[in-house]
Amino acid sequence: MPYLESLELQNHVADSLLRHNYNLDDLPDIFTQVDRENILLDSVKAFIAKPKGCFIGGEWMHSDTDSVIPVYEPFTGKVLNVIPNLSVSEVDEAVVAARKAFANPEWRGMKPMARQAMLLRLSDLVEENAEQLAQIESLDNGKSITGARAELSSAINHIRYMAGWCSKIEGKVNTVSASGQQHAYTLKEPVGVVAGIIPWNFPLVMAVWKIIPALVTGCTVILKPAEQTPLSALRLAELIAEAGFPKGVVNVITGTGVQVGAALASHPGINKIAFTGSTAVGKSIGKSAMENITRVSLELGGKSPLIVFADADIDKVIKGAANAIFYNQGQVCCAGSRLYIHRDIHDKVVAGIAAIADSLTLASGLDASCGMAPLVSKPHQLRVNGYIAQGLSEGAKLATKRSIVEGDGYFVAPTVLTDTHNAMAVVREEIFGPVLVVQAFEDEEEALRLANDSSYGLGASIWSNDLTRVHRLIPQIEAGVVWVNTHNLGDPSQPFGGYKQSGIGREQGREQLDMFLETKSVWIDLN
Ligand code: NAP
Ligand code: MG
Repeated sequence: MPYLESLELQNHVADSLLRHNYNLDDLPDIFTQVDRENILLDSVKAFIAKPKGCFIGGEWMHSDTDSVIPVYEPFTGKVLNVIPNLSVSEVDEAVVAARKAFANPEWRGMKPMARQAMLLRLSDLVEENAEQLAQIESLDNGKSITGARAELSSAINHIRYMAGWCSKIEGKVNTVSASGQQHAYTLKEPVGVVAGIIPWNFPLVMAVWKIIPALVTGCTVILKPAEQTPLSALRLAELIAEAGFPKGVVNVITGTGVQVGAALASHPGINKIAFTGSTAVGKSIGKSAMENITRVSLELGGKSPLIVFADADIDKVIKGAANAIFYNQGQVCCAGSRLYIHRDIHDKVVAGIAAIADSLTLASGLDASCGMAPLVSKPHQLRVNGYIAQGLSEGAKLATKRSIVEGDGYFVAPTVLTDTHNAMAVVREEIFGPVLVVQAFEDEEEALRLANDSSYGLGASIWSNDLTRVHRLIPQIEAGVVWVNTHNLGDPSQPFGGYKQSGIGREQGREQLDMFLETKSVWIDLN
């Protein structure tokens, strides 16, 4: 059964694509999608097939817009539906709606416990719809259904953890030395209208990380999902409406980064931008934001090292390192993408990781046997394959067996490159795919120097059972997260963010809320 069941919608998609000069070869395929009736929930098929609008001021708008972007399914390379590519004036409508909602006494005056209850209601709705959301995410992003389910559980945990902070936002009374008697205290106030701009690798979790802290602190928010993966955020908006948030408190708008994202970043009606994405776009957003002194937090790219010492548990290292780079097809900002191994165990560890890489089954994310799902898009697949070719041409050696994967799906073979060095592009630049670069080191000093020799500083892991060495190294690692004998773990209570060019600010934990709050100092003269 095709996803686009109604003739009306088929015509809408066909018209939109034709008007915007998309490849006409795509069109017949829309109507002959792979039959997944036995896997996909009916509610997922119905959701995918519905015309897609933007959620502005509590209404679904602009689904009949002229300008659209096709949404592809990475496993088949076929179009699932189209989303509006909003114009700058339509972005203005969203800002007006969010500003109005910020001034609305119903939202401004909502008591902390009521706000917490509403967030908990939302978390229950997300949980009730978790399988549906996981399937939508897997179809849209390509990722494995197991990974998508894990993403859902992490999103639910984030909402529940953050909901508890609603009643714990507090200022303090200060004992000041100014003359006379003064009552001096601080108030924490919502920063205002937040724009959340997010990438495609964990679309639902990224949406939650932007929307939920805004709601906890009493802000209002406009979310722009990545054009490649808008669907789970649009479904989340339906659940937000169902949870009862006042109109305009959460708005979800779609479009390209250069049009909609840039319009948000430079908009004087936005008080804070919460951005996750590449370092290059983060820099451009930061510059635009400064035109209006808009507050800005940036969660950017990474090239996170694993440092493996000879005393580590080798089996644990092999499984841990493979997972650190191949999870979510390596499309993880803190993926363990640079592996530094003590020379004595180098060959054994490389052989173990390469064997895991070669054993991963390349399949649709919805297939239970999937060990490695497709990447998010055709351009990204080409980019990652380009890096592998460049690494090999610069002298790296391939430790894995597979190379280019042919076919419609955007697959890249899990790849391990050895004999690399820190001047190579594959070592310096974020590939954001299932590609691990490996180097041997002689001693701790060399390992630390190589690991820190990067413009990024998001995560790092140390693999060793020497407690003294581990504690000695932790403060010397230039990264926002350090794991020991593990990699990629996260929790809503543990702040996440980068040193150096990996970003500004932290997400998760109490630290995240600071970025959505202003501090007001109050003085009352008691003399
Ligand atoms: P990206 O190209 O930077 O895009 C991220 C978001 O910014 C998308 O919504 C994009 O819109 C939008 N955008 C693009 N150009 C823009 C502009 N000129 N002005 C305003 N917005 C603009 O990144 P990506 O390729 O989607 O995601 C991968 C990157 O995200 C990697 O570098 C990864 O490390 C990073 N990431 C970081 C973290 C973290 O927490 N540190 C987490 C996940 C991912 P469109 O896509 O719709 O065009
Ligand atoms: Mg997609």
